[in-house]
Amino acid sequence: MHVLILGGTTEARRLAELLDGVPGLTVTTSLAGRVASPRLPPGEVRVGGFGGAEGLTAWLRERRVGALVDATHPFAGTMSRHAARAAALARVPLLALRRPGWTPGEGDDWHEAGSSEEAAALLPALGRRVFLTTGRMGLAAFAGLDDLWFLVRSVDPPEGPRPAHARILLERGPFTLDGERELLRGHHIDVVVTKDSGGAATAPKLTAAREAVLPVVVIRRPPPPEGVPVTPTPEGAADWVAEQAARRTD
Ligand code: NAP
Repeated sequence: MHVLILGGTTEARRLAELLDGVPGLTVTTSLAGRVASPRLPPGEVRVGGFGGAEGLTAWLRERRVGALVDATHPFAGTMSRHAARAAALARVPLLALRRPGWTPGEGDDWHEAGSSEEAAALLPALGRRVFLTTGRMGLAAFAGLDDLWFLVRSVDPPEGPRPAHARILLERGPFTLDGERELLRGHHIDVVVTKDSGGAATAPKLTAAREAVLPVVVIRRPPPPEGVPVTPTPEGAADWVAEQAARRTD
């Protein structure tokens, strides 16, 4: 059975590792091509868009894909919608692999926002020196905030409009609590902005912010596509793939 994993996350890579070498499975991971030097999973890898839901439908049919796992980032809402549509059109079983979101703990001062624009609107009332960790794609929303200073952390250099007063820090997680504490202290950060990405790799910034009693603006996730079953772990997704393969040989 040919399994297509829509990737770009730690969980997608872990799933490819779990499925690597399983007899009877061919595994392809698809990456969007946004990151210049991605960490590659085992198995086959293809890079670049499919050309919308129609392109993905054609790909699923041509390659006789027997199971599709949408293991994209929780904020990759367009790809997830395309996956749901293409799976329905090509009649391929689909599972979404989504790490759980973060929840505030004792002492957290979180401010929820529905979008980057909403997050930007909240900032002037919360602080002057912002640690912005929403990735290199959505900086335009913060571009008009000329009275604030930004520390922008991203894997690759940002493109397009960005805040006037910004220092760019090119780093890829996982990050440590000690490192995050030092970063907040060293740059005199007084407010943090993050997406509700979930997962352990980038969570230490939240603990460091709590310790330093800093407000955190948390951008909510887009809703997952309706009717698609979801599992929170790569192990759960590997079990689901095994079930799909067993059904085909029944
Ligand atoms: P998006 O806005 O949901 O998708 C935009 C377009 O990018 C899709 O329509 C598709 O092009 C292409 N695409 C996205 N994911 C793809 C994949 N895995 N394989 C092939 N094509 C893909 O996606 P995004 O938010 O830009 O995320 C792009 C990639 O980065 C995803 O793989 C995601 O897992 C990863 N990522 C995203 C974030 C984030 O915060 N958004 C963070 C970490 C990693 P076509 O329509 O041409 O098929």
